[in-house]
Amino acid sequence: MTNNKKILLAYRPVGMPDQSHFNTIETNVPELIDGEVLIKSLYISVDPYMRGRMSDTKSYAKPYEVGKPFIGGIVGQVIESKNPKYKVNSFVEGRMEWAEYNVSNGSNIRKIDPEIAPITTALHVLGMPGLTAYFGLLYIGQPKEGETVVVSGASGAVGTIVGQIAKLKGCRVVGIAGAEEKCSFLTNELGFDAAINYKTTPDLYNELAKACPNGVDVYFDNVGGTVTDEVMKLINFQSRTVICGQISQYNLENPEMGPSILGQLLKTSSLVKGFIVSDYADHNKEGLTMLAKWVREGKIQYRENVIEGFENTVDAFLGLFRGENIGKQLVKISEPTIKD
Ligand code: NAP
Repeated sequence: MTNNKKILLAYRPVGMPDQSHFNTIETNVPELIDGEVLIKSLYISVDPYMRGRMSDTKSYAKPYEVGKPFIGGIVGQVIESKNPKYKVNSFVEGRMEWAEYNVSNGSNIRKIDPEIAPITTALHVLGMPGLTAYFGLLYIGQPKEGETVVVSGASGAVGTIVGQIAKLKGCRVVGIAGAEEKCSFLTNELGFDAAINYKTTPDLYNELAKACPNGVDVYFDNVGGTVTDEVMKLINFQSRTVICGQISQYNLENPEMGPSILGQLLKTSSLVKGFIVSDYADHNKEGLTMLAKWVREGKIQYRENVIEGFENTVDAFLGLFRGENIGKQLVKISEPTIKD
Protein backbone atom coordinates (compact mmCIF):
# COMPACT_ATOMS: atom_id res chain seq x y z
CA MET A 1 0.00 0.00 0.00
CA THR A 2 1.31 3.45 -0.92
CA ASN A 3 0.61 6.41 1.37
CA ASN A 4 -0.87 9.41 -0.38
CA LYS A 5 -1.24 13.01 0.82
CA LYS A 6 -4.10 15.10 -0.58
CA ILE A 7 -5.15 18.72 -0.11
CA LEU A 8 -8.85 19.33 0.51
CA LEU A 9 -11.04 22.42 0.75
CA ALA A 10 -11.66 22.78 4.50
CA TYR A 11 -14.28 25.55 4.27
CA ARG A 12 -15.17 28.34 1.87
CA PRO A 13 -13.31 31.65 2.17
CA VAL A 14 -14.93 35.05 2.23
CA GLY A 15 -12.28 37.50 1.01
CA MET A 16 -8.65 36.41 0.90
CA PRO A 17 -8.12 32.70 1.68
CA ASP A 18 -5.43 31.57 4.11
CA GLN A 19 -3.93 28.25 5.21
CA SER A 20 -6.97 27.46 7.38
CA HIS A 21 -9.12 26.99 4.26
CA PHE A 22 -6.99 23.99 3.24
CA ASN A 23 -6.67 20.62 4.88
CA THR A 24 -4.03 17.99 4.14
CA ILE A 25 -5.00 14.36 4.76
CA GLU A 26 -3.22 11.03 4.35
CA THR A 27 -4.89 8.12 2.60
CA ASN A 28 -3.82 4.98 0.78
CA VAL A 29 -3.60 4.61 -2.98
CA PRO A 30 -6.26 2.11 -4.09
CA GLU A 31 -5.43 -1.03 -6.13
CA LEU A 32 -5.70 -0.41 -9.88
CA ILE A 33 -8.43 -2.05 -11.93
CA ASP A 34 -8.19 -2.78 -15.66
CA GLY A 35 -7.85 0.40 -17.73
CA GLU A 36 -6.34 2.45 -14.88
CA VAL A 37 -2.89 3.93 -14.31
CA LEU A 38 -1.15 5.17 -11.17
CA ILE A 39 0.48 8.57 -11.64
CA LYS A 40 3.13 10.08 -9.39
CA SER A 41 2.86 13.87 -9.28
CA LEU A 42 6.01 15.64 -10.45
CA TYR A 43 4.75 19.23 -10.79
CA ILE A 44 1.52 20.85 -9.61
CA SER A 45 0.26 24.00 -11.30
CA VAL A 46 -1.36 26.63 -9.08
CA ASP A 47 -3.69 28.94 -10.99
CA PRO A 48 -5.69 32.07 -10.06
CA TYR A 49 -9.00 30.66 -11.40
CA MET A 50 -8.92 28.08 -8.60
CA ARG A 51 -9.81 30.87 -6.17
CA GLY A 52 -13.18 31.19 -7.94
CA ARG A 53 -13.85 27.49 -7.48
CA MET A 54 -13.37 27.83 -3.71
CA SER A 55 -16.55 29.95 -3.59
CA ASP A 56 -20.04 28.64 -4.07
CA THR A 57 -20.95 30.95 -6.94
CA LYS A 58 -22.17 30.19 -10.43
CA SER A 59 -19.31 30.23 -12.93
CA TYR A 60 -17.95 28.31 -15.90
CA ALA A 61 -16.27 25.79 -13.57
CA LYS A 62 -18.12 23.92 -10.82
CA PRO A 63 -17.24 24.99 -7.24
CA TYR A 64 -14.93 22.64 -5.34
CA GLU A 65 -16.81 20.68 -2.72
CA VAL A 66 -16.01 21.26 0.93
CA GLY A 67 -14.12 18.22 2.25
CA LYS A 68 -13.09 17.15 -1.27
CA PRO A 69 -9.69 17.56 -2.98
CA PHE A 70 -8.65 20.52 -5.10
CA ILE A 71 -8.37 19.61 -8.76
CA GLY A 72 -5.89 21.32 -11.05
CA GLY A 73 -3.22 20.88 -13.68
CA ILE A 74 -0.56 18.29 -12.84
CA VAL A 75 2.37 16.80 -14.74
CA GLY A 76 3.16 13.32 -13.55
CA GLN A 77 4.78 10.03 -14.38
CA VAL A 78 2.98 6.72 -14.82
CA ILE A 79 4.42 4.35 -12.23
CA GLU A 80 1.97 1.45 -12.61
CA SER A 81 -0.28 0.72 -15.58
CA LYS A 82 -3.25 -1.48 -16.42
CA ASN A 83 -3.97 0.66 -19.48
CA PRO A 84 -2.09 -0.31 -22.68
CA LYS A 85 -2.16 3.33 -23.91
CA TYR A 86 0.02 4.52 -21.02
CA LYS A 87 3.33 2.74 -20.41
CA VAL A 88 5.15 2.74 -17.08
CA ASN A 89 7.61 5.69 -16.90
CA SER A 90 5.72 7.74 -19.50
CA PHE A 91 4.82 11.37 -18.74
CA VAL A 92 1.28 12.72 -18.67
CA GLU A 93 -0.52 16.00 -18.00
CA GLY A 94 -4.08 16.40 -16.84
CA ARG A 95 -6.59 17.75 -14.38
CA MET A 96 -6.05 15.72 -11.26
CA GLU A 97 -6.37 15.96 -7.50
CA TRP A 98 -3.82 17.99 -5.54
CA ALA A 99 -2.19 14.79 -4.31
CA GLU A 100 1.14 13.00 -4.40
CA TYR A 101 -0.47 10.19 -6.43
CA ASN A 102 -3.53 10.00 -8.68
CA VAL A 103 -5.35 7.08 -10.25
CA SER A 104 -6.71 7.77 -13.75
CA ASN A 105 -8.69 5.74 -16.26
CA GLY A 106 -7.07 7.79 -19.03
CA SER A 107 -9.99 10.13 -19.67
CA ASN A 108 -8.50 13.16 -17.87
CA ILE A 109 -4.87 12.91 -19.03
CA ARG A 110 -2.80 13.41 -22.19
CA LYS A 111 0.63 12.02 -23.01
CA ILE A 112 3.49 14.51 -23.12
CA ASP A 113 6.77 14.00 -24.93
CA PRO A 114 9.90 15.16 -23.07
CA GLU A 115 11.77 15.14 -26.40
CA ILE A 116 9.65 18.07 -27.66
CA ALA A 117 10.06 20.39 -24.66
CA PRO A 118 10.67 20.16 -20.90
CA ILE A 119 7.69 18.41 -19.27
CA THR A 120 6.82 21.46 -17.15
CA THR A 121 5.90 23.45 -20.27
CA ALA A 122 2.71 21.35 -20.53
CA LEU A 123 1.49 23.40 -17.54
CA HIS A 124 2.20 26.80 -19.10
CA VAL A 125 3.43 27.82 -22.54
CA LEU A 126 2.45 24.46 -24.10
CA GLY A 127 -0.67 24.07 -22.00
CA MET A 128 -3.65 25.98 -20.63
CA PRO A 129 -2.01 29.40 -19.99
CA GLY A 130 -0.28 29.40 -23.39
CA LEU A 131 -3.52 28.53 -25.16
CA THR A 132 -5.31 31.25 -23.19
CA ALA A 133 -2.81 33.83 -24.45
CA TYR A 134 -2.97 32.47 -28.02
CA PHE A 135 -6.78 32.35 -28.36
CA GLY A 136 -7.50 35.53 -26.43
CA LEU A 137 -4.99 37.64 -28.28
CA LEU A 138 -5.31 36.23 -31.79
CA TYR A 139 -8.97 35.21 -31.98
CA ILE A 140 -10.44 38.16 -30.04
CA GLY A 141 -7.73 40.84 -29.95
CA GLN A 142 -6.74 40.35 -33.60
CA PRO A 143 -3.64 42.55 -33.37
CA LYS A 144 -2.36 44.10 -36.59
CA GLU A 145 1.15 45.21 -37.42
CA GLY A 146 1.91 48.67 -36.04
CA GLU A 147 -0.91 48.61 -33.48
CA THR A 148 -0.42 49.11 -29.73
CA VAL A 149 -1.21 46.20 -27.41
CA VAL A 150 -1.42 46.70 -23.64
CA VAL A 151 -1.42 43.69 -21.33
CA SER A 152 -2.03 43.76 -17.57
CA GLY A 153 -0.78 40.99 -15.28
CA ALA A 154 2.01 41.13 -17.85
CA SER A 155 4.75 39.20 -16.04
CA GLY A 156 2.68 36.10 -15.28
CA ALA A 157 2.04 32.83 -17.09
CA VAL A 158 -0.52 34.25 -19.54
CA GLY A 159 0.74 37.85 -19.79
CA THR A 160 4.33 36.97 -20.77
CA ILE A 161 3.07 34.89 -23.70
CA VAL A 162 0.49 37.49 -24.79
CA GLY A 163 3.16 40.19 -25.01
CA GLN A 164 5.58 38.02 -26.97
CA ILE A 165 2.95 36.89 -29.49
CA ALA A 166 1.96 40.54 -29.96
CA LYS A 167 5.62 41.39 -30.67
CA LEU A 168 5.72 38.56 -33.25
CA LYS A 169 2.73 40.23 -34.92
CA GLY A 170 4.68 43.50 -35.22
CA CYS A 171 2.90 45.45 -32.47
CA ARG A 172 4.08 47.98 -29.92
CA VAL A 173 3.67 46.15 -26.60
CA VAL A 174 3.22 47.75 -23.19
CA GLY A 175 3.04 45.61 -20.05
CA ILE A 176 1.62 46.49 -16.64
CA ALA A 177 3.03 44.60 -13.64
CA GLY A 178 3.52 45.00 -9.90
CA ALA A 179 7.31 45.16 -9.35
CA GLU A 180 10.43 46.80 -10.83
CA GLU A 181 12.04 43.37 -11.30
CA LYS A 182 8.98 42.25 -13.28
CA CYS A 183 9.06 45.37 -15.47
CA SER A 184 12.75 45.03 -16.30
CA PHE A 185 12.22 41.33 -17.08
CA LEU A 186 9.52 42.33 -19.58
CA THR A 187 11.55 45.00 -21.36
CA ASN A 188 15.08 43.55 -21.07
CA GLU A 189 14.39 39.86 -21.57
CA LEU A 190 11.06 39.54 -23.39
CA GLY A 191 11.32 42.51 -25.74
CA PHE A 192 8.31 44.51 -24.49
CA ASP A 193 8.57 48.15 -25.63
CA ALA A 194 7.61 49.51 -22.22
CA ALA A 195 6.49 48.26 -18.83
CA ILE A 196 4.79 50.16 -16.02
CA ASN A 197 4.80 49.30 -12.33
CA TYR A 198 1.19 49.94 -11.32
CA LYS A 199 2.06 49.70 -7.63
CA THR A 200 4.59 52.54 -7.58
CA THR A 201 3.59 54.92 -10.37
CA PRO A 202 1.98 58.08 -8.98
CA ASP A 203 -0.13 58.51 -12.13
CA LEU A 204 -0.89 55.34 -14.09
CA TYR A 205 -2.93 57.16 -16.73
CA ASN A 206 -0.12 59.61 -17.47
CA GLU A 207 2.51 56.84 -17.69
CA LEU A 208 0.26 54.82 -19.97
CA ALA A 209 -0.41 57.81 -22.20
CA LYS A 210 3.35 58.35 -22.55
CA ALA A 211 3.97 54.66 -23.28
CA CYS A 212 1.09 54.54 -25.81
CA PRO A 213 1.50 57.74 -27.88
CA ASN A 214 -0.87 56.35 -30.53
CA GLY A 215 -3.48 55.13 -28.03
CA VAL A 216 -4.46 51.52 -27.31
CA ASP A 217 -5.75 49.22 -30.05
CA VAL A 218 -5.82 45.96 -28.10
CA TYR A 219 -6.10 45.63 -24.33
CA PHE A 220 -5.56 42.14 -22.89
CA ASP A 221 -7.01 42.36 -19.39
CA ASN A 222 -5.80 39.92 -16.76
CA VAL A 223 -6.54 42.00 -13.68
CA GLY A 224 -9.57 44.33 -13.95
CA GLY A 225 -10.24 47.02 -11.33
CA THR A 226 -8.57 50.43 -11.33
CA VAL A 227 -5.72 49.35 -13.64
CA THR A 228 -8.26 48.53 -16.34
CA ASP A 229 -10.22 51.75 -15.70
CA GLU A 230 -7.09 53.75 -16.62
CA VAL A 231 -6.31 51.72 -19.74
CA MET A 232 -9.87 52.09 -21.02
CA LYS A 233 -9.47 55.89 -21.11
CA LEU A 234 -6.92 55.41 -23.90
CA ILE A 235 -8.71 53.01 -26.24
CA ASN A 236 -8.74 53.88 -29.95
CA PHE A 237 -11.44 53.75 -32.57
CA GLN A 238 -12.41 50.08 -33.15
CA SER A 239 -10.23 48.86 -30.28
CA ARG A 240 -10.58 45.32 -28.93
CA THR A 241 -10.50 44.54 -25.20
CA VAL A 242 -10.00 40.92 -24.23
CA ILE A 243 -11.35 40.08 -20.77
CA CYS A 244 -9.20 37.14 -19.73
CA GLY A 245 -9.00 37.56 -15.94
CA GLN A 246 -10.00 39.91 -13.13
CA ILE A 247 -7.57 38.86 -10.42
CA SER A 248 -7.83 42.20 -8.57
CA GLN A 249 -11.46 41.31 -7.81
CA TYR A 250 -11.18 37.62 -6.85
CA ASN A 251 -10.67 38.19 -3.12
CA LEU A 252 -12.93 41.20 -2.63
CA GLU A 253 -15.95 40.74 -0.43
CA ASN A 254 -17.86 43.30 -2.50
CA PRO A 255 -17.12 43.92 -6.17
CA GLU A 256 -15.70 47.37 -6.97
CA MET A 257 -17.88 49.76 -8.93
CA GLY A 258 -16.05 51.05 -11.99
CA PRO A 259 -16.74 54.08 -14.15
CA SER A 260 -19.52 53.83 -16.76
CA ILE A 261 -17.64 53.07 -19.97
CA LEU A 262 -20.42 52.16 -22.37
CA GLY A 263 -20.46 55.66 -23.88
CA GLN A 264 -16.72 55.37 -24.48
CA LEU A 265 -17.25 52.02 -26.23
CA LEU A 266 -19.99 53.53 -28.37
CA LYS A 267 -17.93 56.58 -29.34
CA THR A 268 -14.93 54.43 -30.26
CA SER A 269 -16.94 51.64 -31.89
CA SER A 270 -15.00 49.23 -29.65
CA LEU A 271 -15.33 45.57 -28.74
CA VAL A 272 -15.06 44.13 -25.22
CA LYS A 273 -15.26 40.36 -24.98
CA GLY A 274 -14.80 37.89 -22.15
CA PHE A 275 -13.73 34.33 -22.90
CA ILE A 276 -12.75 31.03 -21.32
CA VAL A 277 -9.87 29.10 -22.88
CA SER A 278 -12.09 26.03 -23.28
CA ASP A 279 -14.38 28.01 -25.65
CA TYR A 280 -11.69 27.38 -28.26
CA ALA A 281 -10.94 23.73 -27.40
CA ASP A 282 -11.58 22.70 -31.02
CA HIS A 283 -8.51 24.77 -31.94
CA ASN A 284 -6.17 23.37 -29.25
CA LYS A 285 -4.11 21.45 -31.79
CA GLU A 286 -3.50 24.56 -33.86
CA GLY A 287 -2.60 26.61 -30.76
CA LEU A 288 -0.21 24.02 -29.34
CA THR A 289 1.46 23.49 -32.73
CA MET A 290 2.09 27.23 -33.16
CA LEU A 291 3.26 27.74 -29.58
CA ALA A 292 5.63 24.74 -29.81
CA LYS A 293 7.03 26.09 -33.09
CA TRP A 294 7.68 29.53 -31.57
CA VAL A 295 9.32 27.99 -28.49
CA ARG A 296 11.49 25.73 -30.67
CA GLU A 297 12.54 28.67 -32.83
CA GLY A 298 13.41 30.71 -29.72
CA LYS A 299 10.76 33.31 -30.57
CA ILE A 300 8.91 32.79 -27.30
CA GLN A 301 10.73 32.62 -23.97
CA TYR A 302 9.19 31.39 -20.75
CA ARG A 303 10.09 31.61 -17.11
CA GLU A 304 9.08 29.34 -14.23
CA ASN A 305 8.86 30.17 -10.55
CA VAL A 306 9.30 26.78 -8.87
CA ILE A 307 8.64 26.11 -5.18
CA GLU A 308 9.70 22.68 -3.91
CA GLY A 309 7.62 20.33 -1.80
CA PHE A 310 4.00 19.16 -1.71
CA GLU A 311 3.62 20.84 1.70
CA ASN A 312 4.27 24.22 0.05
CA THR A 313 1.48 23.92 -2.56
CA VAL A 314 -0.99 26.10 -0.66
CA ASP A 315 1.60 28.80 -0.03
CA ALA A 316 2.49 28.82 -3.74
CA PHE A 317 -1.19 29.25 -4.58
CA LEU A 318 -1.71 32.08 -2.08
CA GLY A 319 1.49 33.71 -3.37
CA LEU A 320 -0.24 34.35 -6.72
CA PHE A 321 -2.43 36.92 -4.96
CA ARG A 322 0.61 38.53 -3.33
CA GLY A 323 2.33 38.82 -6.72
CA GLU A 324 5.22 36.56 -5.71
CA ASN A 325 5.69 34.88 -9.10
CA ILE A 326 7.50 35.96 -12.23
CA GLY A 327 6.33 33.67 -15.02
CA LYS A 328 4.48 30.43 -14.28
CA GLN A 329 4.10 29.39 -10.65
CA LEU A 330 4.75 25.66 -10.21
CA VAL A 331 5.29 23.34 -7.27
CA LYS A 332 7.83 20.57 -7.69
CA ILE A 333 6.59 17.45 -5.93
CA SER A 334 9.12 14.78 -6.91
CA GLU A 335 11.87 13.83 -9.33
CA PRO A 336 10.99 11.75 -12.38
CA THR A 337 12.21 8.17 -12.51
CA ILE A 338 14.89 7.97 -15.16
CA LYS A 339 14.48 5.13 -17.66
CA ASP A 340 17.31 2.53 -17.69
P1 NAP B 1 -0.15 34.94 -13.12
O1 NAP B 1 -0.23 36.25 -13.84
O2 NAP B 1 1.00 34.06 -13.40
O3 NAP B 1 -0.16 35.18 -11.53
C1 NAP B 1 -0.97 36.08 -10.92
C2 NAP B 1 -0.40 37.53 -10.94
O4 NAP B 1 -1.50 38.44 -10.83
C3 NAP B 1 0.49 37.88 -9.77
O5 NAP B 1 1.83 37.53 -9.93
C4 NAP B 1 0.30 39.39 -9.63
O6 NAP B 1 1.30 40.09 -10.38
C5 NAP B 1 -1.05 39.65 -10.28
N1 NAP B 1 -2.00 40.12 -9.26
C6 NAP B 1 -2.33 39.51 -8.10
N2 NAP B 1 -3.20 40.28 -7.41
C7 NAP B 1 -3.41 41.39 -8.17
C8 NAP B 1 -4.20 42.57 -8.01
N3 NAP B 1 -4.96 42.75 -6.91
N4 NAP B 1 -4.17 43.51 -8.97
C9 NAP B 1 -3.42 43.35 -10.09
N5 NAP B 1 -2.65 42.25 -10.30
C10 NAP B 1 -2.65 41.30 -9.35
O7 NAP B 1 -1.51 34.17 -13.38
P2 NAP B 1 -1.99 33.57 -14.78
O8 NAP B 1 -2.18 32.11 -14.61
O9 NAP B 1 -1.11 34.07 -15.87
O10 NAP B 1 -3.43 34.23 -14.92
C11 NAP B 1 -3.54 35.60 -15.29
C12 NAP B 1 -5.02 35.97 -15.34
O11 NAP B 1 -5.65 35.24 -16.40
C13 NAP B 1 -5.79 35.64 -14.07
O12 NAP B 1 -6.73 36.66 -13.83
C14 NAP B 1 -6.50 34.35 -14.41
O13 NAP B 1 -7.66 34.15 -13.66
C15 NAP B 1 -6.77 34.56 -15.90
N6 NAP B 1 -6.93 33.34 -16.70
C16 NAP B 1 -8.04 33.24 -17.47
C17 NAP B 1 -8.23 32.16 -18.30
C18 NAP B 1 -9.45 32.09 -19.17
O14 NAP B 1 -9.75 31.03 -19.72
N7 NAP B 1 -10.15 33.20 -19.33
C19 NAP B 1 -7.27 31.12 -18.30
C20 NAP B 1 -6.12 31.26 -17.51
C21 NAP B 1 -5.96 32.38 -16.70
P3 NAP B 1 1.63 41.64 -10.08
O15 NAP B 1 2.89 41.66 -9.29
O16 NAP B 1 1.78 42.21 -11.45
O17 NAP B 1 0.50 42.22 -9.29
